Amino acid sequence: AESLSRHPEIRIESRSAYYSTQPIGGPSGQDEFLNACILCETSLSPESMLRELHAIEDQLGRIRNERWAPRTIDLDLLLYDQLILDTPQLTVPHPRMTFRRFVLTPAVEIAAEMLHPPTGWTVRELLARLDTAQNYLAISGGAYPLGSRIARESSDRLRCRFLPDSKAREFEESLEKPVSHENWHQQVTILLARRIDLGKA
Ligand code: ATP
Ligand code: CA
Ligand code: CA
Repeated sequence: AESLSRHPEIRIESRSAYYSTQPIGGPSGQDEFLNACILCETSLSPESMLRELHAIEDQLGRIRNERWAPRTIDLDLLLYDQLILDTPQLTVPHPRMTFRRFVLTPAVEIAAEMLHPPTGWTVRELLARLDTAQNYLAISGGAYPLGSRIARESSDRLRCRFLPDSKAREFEESLEKPVSHENWHQQVTILLARRIDLGKA
């Protein structure tokens, strides 16, 4: 925050508290993460803002090596006004913010009513959704019918509904039924972001 506020074109509006979280995914044996969000006003473009964040990461001694490995600091650009941007260097809104509690909890403190343009939900609504939405678990890979069998057995054990791949039509139909009061399009947007997340893991 101090480095950001030293930049002539960045003004810090508010900062959240720090929240400590257990690491999820990535290599084992890591310490807890501290997460916080900052709301800034800036005349910098999103690309320049990202460059600035990377420069601060470098100053603070981040070494870019293994993905999701422990690091001194990780600065991500979550939202930039109502902008939607997708280039190889920069995706805004941050594609994995919608389902990360450790992002949404501090974000609500400083920008609860800010809209997440792809879903049209506010940050507060995205966080609330984490407590109410259905969970989906996709199992892929393995020669047929191994993947399906693993999926069927895990869904039995977890008492979930099994949605087999070979019945893609049934799957789509079952999803198109209104999911309680929540909006279908928004649910799909979030699901797709999550699918990309797993694909990169
Ligand atoms: P995650 O993106 O899942 O939080 P990460 O922060 O650990 O993972 P990094 O290794 O820090 O991932 O970043 C990889 C690249 O992501 C960066 O070099 C940057 O170009 C790109 N990137 C794309 N969109 C954003 C964004 N909104 N904020 C920060 N970096 C982004
Ligand atoms: Ca990150
Ligand atoms: Ca990052």
